[in-house]
Amino acid sequence: MKILIVEDEKKMASFLERGLKEEGFVVDIAPDGEKGLEYSVINEYDLLILDWMLPRMSGIELCHCLRKQKKQVPILMLTAKDSVEDKIKGLDEGADDYLTKPFSFEELLARVRALLRRPPHLKDKTILQCAKLKLDLIKRQAWAGPQEVSLSQKEFALLEYLMRHAGEVVSRTAIAEHVWDLHFDPMSNTIDVYINFLRKKINEKEAGTKIETVRGTGYRLVSQ
Ligand code: CA
Repeated sequence: MKILIVEDEKKMASFLERGLKEEGFVVDIAPDGEKGLEYSVINEYDLLILDWMLPRMSGIELCHCLRKQKKQVPILMLTAKDSVEDKIKGLDEGADDYLTKPFSFEELLARVRALLRRPPHLKDKTILQCAKLKLDLIKRQAWAGPQEVSLSQKEFALLEYLMRHAGEVVSRTAIAEHVWDLHFDPMSNTIDVYINFLRKKINEKEAGTKIETVRGTGYRLVSQ
């Protein structure tokens, strides 16, 4: 799952980035509100974490803009402001939850998980299935038939992306964008290496699926 953090304090941003990556999330960072808006319009995120006080455009304004454009993505606001009116304002503008700084990473994680579980538009997406290959996005488990498959975080994220687009050809660029962060070079052979890890780990017969290479374009997960 992919999360955008919009935060101007570098220390806070990298603290969040590191923690969330360790939990297996793909993380992008935007340093101000305008960039945050730009990224969230171009890319598809499963969750946004917005700081309230941001240069160029505040977290609240960003939230307001996205909701006006009918973007349904769950939003968690981070704020040093802890007055009741501020919290109400945040929720009124379309934030789904808020957390007052300073907070513990464990609490943030619990809220992130709750938000990813909650929204109806994501409910049908928390378990992905293709033939007998199953992926539980909340428990972060994978099965090929009755066999549980142990995947690294990157492998999991890559498989998740392929499964969300099962039957379609996904380009290397699209994979790079969704599974790695903005600074990743799609032309490196990292993607091929991870595809091969998946092919080795997932028994095609048990799963009833196969990852095909589409020459010059990318990959396709098919059921067989
Ligand atoms: Ca700030």
